[in-house]
Amino acid sequence: MPLVIEKKARNLIHPIDRTWEIFRFCPHRLAANIYLGCEFGCSYCFARAITPDYSGVITVRINAPEKIATELQKMKSLRHRQPVDLGSATDPYQPIEKHYELTRNVLKTFLRKNARLYCY
Ligand code: SF4
Repeated sequence: MPLVIEKKARNLIHPIDRTWEIFRFCPHRLAANIYLGCEFGCSYCFARAITPDYSGVITVRINAPEKIATELQKMKSLRHRQPVDLGSATDPYQPIEKHYELTRNVLKTFLRKNARLYCY
């Protein structure tokens, strides 16, 4: 079992960092990660470079549904209405999601706000 740290995020939707080679050719510009770290810990995962113990310590942004609802509300311009990559650096459906159900509730928020996203 990983160590779980619950945190309230100050912001969630952010521009993709194109200085990372893997994101250079991504079609989307915005991303949001509900979790930081991933229990699956795949050996080929680029995101393992983000934190020293990527699969052993999972940070849970416990206010993700409310925060994303607020951020989507503020995105009024066409530029900001672009699809959001939900889980650019972690798996939003990793095992801990069964307990927190944050991804499930964030998806409901996107649906309510008629906002588009990528989730893969
Ligand atoms: S984010 Fe994806 S590739 Fe990386 S460890 Fe999790 S499941 Fe594997």
